[in-house]
Amino acid sequence: MKEISDVHEAACWAERVRAAGLSLGLVPTMGALHAGHSALIERARAECDRVVVSIFVNPTQFSPGDDLEGYPRSTAADVDICAGLSVDLVFHGKTSGPGGVYTPDFRTWVKVEGLCEPLCGRFRLGHFRGVTTVVSILLGIFRPHRAYFGRKDFQQNRLIEQLAADLHTGVEVRSLPTVRDADGLALSSRNRCLGEAERQFALAIPGALERAVDAFEKGEEQHVRLAERVREELEATPGLDVQYVEALDARTLQAPADGTISGSPDGVVLAVAALVGDVRLIDNAWLCRDTGDAGE
Ligand code: AMP
Repeated sequence: MKEISDVHEAACWAERVRAAGLSLGLVPTMGALHAGHSALIERARAECDRVVVSIFVNPTQFSPGDDLEGYPRSTAADVDICAGLSVDLVFHGKTSGPGGVYTPDFRTWVKVEGLCEPLCGRFRLGHFRGVTTVVSILLGIFRPHRAYFGRKDFQQNRLIEQLAADLHTGVEVRSLPTVRDADGLALSSRNRCLGEAERQFALAIPGALERAVDAFEKGEEQHVRLAERVREELEATPGLDVQYVEALDARTLQAPADGTISGSPDGVVLAVAALVGDVRLIDNAWLCRDTGDAGE
């Protein structure tokens, strides 16, 4: 397994892969890898001739007040995980300086209008602009055939699908189901910042979502009713500071045109964000009658 931190070297490596007629899969991450990341890497490994994992804690997606310095980092363990999963290249992005991800006079921002404002966009100003910009840069460096993302970050996925199409990147965006711990909590690098008591509070989130999915599977069609129920449950949970519980059209991320879930052709995403102490957690359930993916 190769490790590179210089963007030009990384781009040359990717160019050689493509020139050899091999398919390239990119898994962008901010490190502190867990089984959710591993699932993306394993899928990329199964579908592509060469796999690159980028590990870059992207400063432009942290809003003022977000804890960039405190973001969990575990580079040596991450490299071991990648080696264990037969990754071909780990790209350790540097923010700036020669060969850095951001050029010295960086001025180009990618903003996906209409999709970046709702949900987390209301609470993390500038966050998605940072995400879509860094993903665009990574797609520019590697020009992969496929890029892999997790549906835990449902809104992020929609933004990336949109930018990949709008910018004619040609990349196939692959969105994979949320991987959870045995107790139901969605895996997240930030979970390692939770104390034992906080973790117990956090479990109310997957619990409430699971009950909503059950109700949906038993025929409940009124997304407003499902969102209300989840909100009531979470607001009654001590230790949770709920930022939002919303049911939105899974494609437009706007209020569904119809009162029913089946009225949205791509289904409805039931999305939650809450603070447990200082730790911000997000989770969602994708309610869609056609895909059989509900609750993933
Ligand atoms: P991050 O390192 O948190 O920026 O995440 C990198 C990628 O891993 C993103 O596409 C996330 O959506 C994905 N990811 C994070 N947590 C999970 C999870 N629990 N299940 C599946 N994918 C995940």
